[in-house]
Amino acid sequence: MRTFEFRLYPNKEQSRRLMACLAESRKLFNEMLAQMKQQYEQDGTFPSKYDLTAQFKGRGGEYVPATTVQMLADRLSKSLKRFLAARELGIPDVGFPRFYRTSQKTLRRKQRRLCRRKKGSNRRRKAARSTAQTHLKIARQRRDFHFKTAKLYAERYQLIAVEKLTILNMVQNHSLAKSIMDASWGAFLAILEEKAERAGHQVIRVNPRFTSQKCHKCGEIVQKSLSVRTHICPFCGYIADRDVNAAKNILKRARPGHGLQESTYTDGCSVS
Ligand SMILES: [Zn+2]
Repeated sequence: MRTFEFRLYPNKEQSRRLMACLAESRKLFNEMLAQMKQQYEQDGTFPSKYDLTAQFKGRGGEYVPATTVQMLADRLSKSLKRFLAARELGIPDVGFPRFYRTSQKTLRRKQRRLCRRKKGSNRRRKAARSTAQTHLKIARQRRDFHFKTAKLYAERYQLIAVEKLTILNMVQNHSLAKSIMDASWGAFLAILEEKAERAGHQVIRVNPRFTSQKCHKCGEIVQKSLSVRTHICPFCGYIADRDVNAAKNILKRARPGHGLQESTYTDGCSVS
């Protein structure tokens, strides 16, 4: 679309009419907004731009032409759509946030310093206290992150499917880092379940067996190590991010017999 701009030189009367039009338009816009809010509070829906145009037909009065009323309704509904879309996209990935890595670095540095200090010395005691404080800080940050993330998901989704933590899994794990991750995951799930319950929503824990290896499309097992981040099925040709394939399997397990709605899961939620 091409647009042209012209400088207008209105006389006094034209100027007055233009200002009146502007003031009236602003008033109408605000009234439309109030109308939208009211309907949303009443039944949770928003009026469309056609509803608004119909409701405000003839309300332009002396200064606001009917096309302007339509345009106001159109703009309002567009900005509402944009606002709702932005909220839709505002769901962050569940992953370790940056602060966590920064604190971990500090902790490692402090731990090394602690080891260098002579046992029983004053300086060692000081270093020990400093290390403990960083531990505490990390624990608080993690807890805070858990609460925020849990709130976000619990309030937004009616059904949240997660992998059940199995004792077997934890025993089989030799890596300390993985055990810590599991412990953290367990703490997060407890918070998530509590918040979901409060919101009247449901968290379903499913058997984590083969959720990563199984092909979501055809059900065949496709072996892959943890470093392989993409699921490529040699049986049916389905290709997806490793975590997305796993997430679809987890959701399917949580509600067998139901089709998958794309909007009910979030990509990038690392579960495996
Ligand atoms: Zn397949």
